[in-house]
Amino acid sequence: MNKGLLIVLSGPSGSGKGTINQVIAEDPNVFLSVSATTRSPREGEQHGQHYYFITREEFEDRLKQDGMLEYNEYCGNYYGTPKKEMQQRLENGNDVILEIDVNGALNVMERVDDVVSIFIMPPSLEVLEDRLRGRGTESEEVIRQRMNEAITEIGKADQYDYIVVNDKLDDAISEVRAILSAEKHKITRMREFVKGVLNYGNE
Ligand code: 5GP
Repeated sequence: MNKGLLIVLSGPSGSGKGTINQVIAEDPNVFLSVSATTRSPREGEQHGQHYYFITREEFEDRLKQDGMLEYNEYCGNYYGTPKKEMQQRLENGNDVILEIDVNGALNVMERVDDVVSIFIMPPSLEVLEDRLRGRGTESEEVIRQRMNEAITEIGKADQYDYIVVNDKLDDAISEVRAILSAEKHKITRMREFVKGVLNYGNE
């Protein structure tokens, strides 16, 4: 069992998962994993902060060396979760959040036993559509695509451990924090502590 919690957090575009993650990751004990990708950086994106931008060859080398926990090919580019940094953080006792799409999350859940999965839901499809429109940056066609994508993703939400409805951001953040706190108090995580207390008198 890892010392820290490995958390996968997903949700459709417009669910507010990015904002929730940013706030949760303000805790110095929490590390937001940085994915590797072969796509080019967008304006303002920094190597090592938003993504590790690497070449296809480098990505394929890392795959051969078993350096990715999971990966996906999306619109002709690879995206993946580097293993080493995540493992080091977990061993140091940090909690690690992977903000990845539903397919990536399901792959992680298959491969890792000790993972906490959280799906961030909008309160309704109407609210989601309003939020996507409110950004004012997306065309009608992109909004349609994202809504369809959202419906497919929400259809897989029952494979997650927890559902958090992001109606009010502050409440959703408190709920994610409560889940992480409860997970840390499970007997599977506290057993060593309990044993330690009992052993004290026998030394
Ligand atoms: P974008 O190019 O817009 O930054 O990301 C495209 C898609 O790749 C998004 O759905 C995003 O969630 C997904 N993605 C980003 N990082 C990873 C990763 O490490 N693994 C997987 N499976 N998907 C990722």
